[in-house]
Amino acid sequence: MGKASAVSRMKVSRRAFLAGSAAIAAGCRVGRAAQVKGRVIILGFDGVKPGIVDKMFEAGELPNLAKLRDQGSYHRLGSSNPPQSPTAWSSFATCKWPGNHGIYDFLRRNPENYLSGLGFGTTNHAKLAPDGSVAKDAEFVNFRKGETFWALASDHGMRCKLLEVPYAYPADKLHNGRMLCGLDVPDIRGTQSTFFAMSEALEVVQNVGGGVRLPLKFKGKAATVRLPGFRNPETKEFIRVPVELMADRAGHKVTVTIQGQKVVLAENTWSDWFEWTFEVTPQFSVRAISRVHVLEAGELVRLYMTCLQCHPRAPYVPISYPNGYAAELADRYGLYKTIGWAYDTKALERDDLTEPLFLEDVRNTMTWRETLMLDELDRGQFDLLAAGWTGTDRVGHMFWRFRDTKHPLYTEEGARKYGRALEDTYVKMDEIVGKAMAKLDEGDLLMVMSDHGFHSFRYGFSVNTWLVRHGYLAIKGKTDPATASTRDKYLMGFDWPRTKAYALGLGSVFLNLKGREGQGTVAPQDAPALVSEIREKLLQVTDPETGDKVLREVYTNEIYKGESEKDAPDLQLGYAEGYQTNKSSAAGGAPAEMLSPNVKKWSGEHAASDVAVTHGILFSNRSVAENPAIVDVGATALKYLGIEAPGDFEGASLI
Ligand SMILES: [Zn+2]
Repeated sequence: MGKASAVSRMKVSRRAFLAGSAAIAAGCRVGRAAQVKGRVIILGFDGVKPGIVDKMFEAGELPNLAKLRDQGSYHRLGSSNPPQSPTAWSSFATCKWPGNHGIYDFLRRNPENYLSGLGFGTTNHAKLAPDGSVAKDAEFVNFRKGETFWALASDHGMRCKLLEVPYAYPADKLHNGRMLCGLDVPDIRGTQSTFFAMSEALEVVQNVGGGVRLPLKFKGKAATVRLPGFRNPETKEFIRVPVELMADRAGHKVTVTIQGQKVVLAENTWSDWFEWTFEVTPQFSVRAISRVHVLEAGELVRLYMTCLQCHPRAPYVPISYPNGYAAELADRYGLYKTIGWAYDTKALERDDLTEPLFLEDVRNTMTWRETLMLDELDRGQFDLLAAGWTGTDRVGHMFWRFRDTKHPLYTEEGARKYGRALEDTYVKMDEIVGKAMAKLDEGDLLMVMSDHGFHSFRYGFSVNTWLVRHGYLAIKGKTDPATASTRDKYLMGFDWPRTKAYALGLGSVFLNLKGREGQGTVAPQDAPALVSEIREKLLQVTDPETGDKVLREVYTNEIYKGESEKDAPDLQLGYAEGYQTNKSSAAGGAPAEMLSPNVKKWSGEHAASDVAVTHGILFSNRSVAENPAIVDVGATALKYLGIEAPGDFEGASLI
């Protein structure tokens, strides 16, 4: 695409936008692009594996999706490389590959100083003026480059509704549109999710990954916990609010009082939403909501509380567009879950939440989103509607151990109880799709998709340890590559002047490149040979127990082209079934063991699986072109809406 034609497209776009706006202002749909075929509805499910869908088809368990397949089409959908959710959903949003949108992995590093942080975005906390008022509101910054296809559609006068589409945060400003953000929306601490566990079994406060454990000390029947909620952005001190408990051990009940809200909860029950106000200064308070579950209320009292989520009527960081849409939904449905990481995998991982509670939460939350999507379909007034669900992915991550007999945590009893937990979420997906299909108009285009597939995660491979053993990575204070290791994470334990390559994130390997890295050692002219040397050696890595190859493919950065290619990893790992990067190595450490069994409940994975075998799904009520990829979905939507895709789109229309 030449520059001249790109410019002429922009002119056309502008004209079409003005015409569309005028038509909307006049309250009619005449005047929109002449080629509009009908409305577009996209239902996105995180991490649905086509192989499982196929087996369920054989058993007749997904009748609505089978009907959709027979009416239209069903394909495997090519994912991004790596097939991680932030990367893949960013490709969905922008119709571009990571070389352009720049979201490569869960973690990213600043090559100049090797400091690492979250790979997809960050929360900038509110700034306070000296008098205690807010000088600057909190905001979330997404590192993704490129405009979303729905923002483009909106610029052409299309009315868009975006309902919890993953990694589409913050909200775009849409003309006559509505957007409720999902995955990526932080809690009021600015984290992806921080739960609270309160228990008599604890002696001291424990800050565990993704949660805070607080000891309960009863005096008679009463105990008070001063819960550290919001952190003052200036002093960094937590604002603490008392949670008062009154235990009725004989009756297996606990009375919970928080800021004047008093609720009696029987063992094994959830509270409704508690509303919190954390007064930071007389001029600035932060509101939040959370729910409490009583796990035990007998000899031992033990409670779980969700993270402190943004209050939909007064969110600490904006969670919708327009801002008032989140509050409007609270008026419509009552208070609702706003945290982007909607299922508490960390609490389940650490036994602060149970499997049945986790699955109950998945069912309820999927239903809430279903209700929202169906209501917004009924309310009409849109040209493009996209809605997202993440339960399919999270159950895959947490319950794979019960469906893979070779998984280190597999048990027959577990398989009997939870072996079909994932299929249950697919059945729920099928019901959601069926209900949406029943509401379609004749001209509507429906696409049902997932961003990537899934694999078992039996063994963790420490790529950093491998780099140490092969003389590419050096550890501070250690000289023998045969034994060197470090417990330090986030690249803090590495000796840069002696290092040629290092890994950070779930599948990224970087050279320590002169001119890019602060203490680079590899000359740019030597980089291509070193990349292919490391690649060749990595492809030879086998599991000593089975002789199986650990990596199915290792990609070089030639696959990443575009305006963000300078941020790309030099090598992208593509694991074989059963293998993934060990968590400590992913966090920029180098543990002693190179290959270790995965004994975590997080037992299914896809993050650095070989993209060639990690397809998602694409169903449509129309036939679509062969070999569709995730960047094509938005391009297809735009074409159906009569909008020509910009010249820099890497996706193309499938119909
Ligand atoms: Zn996932």
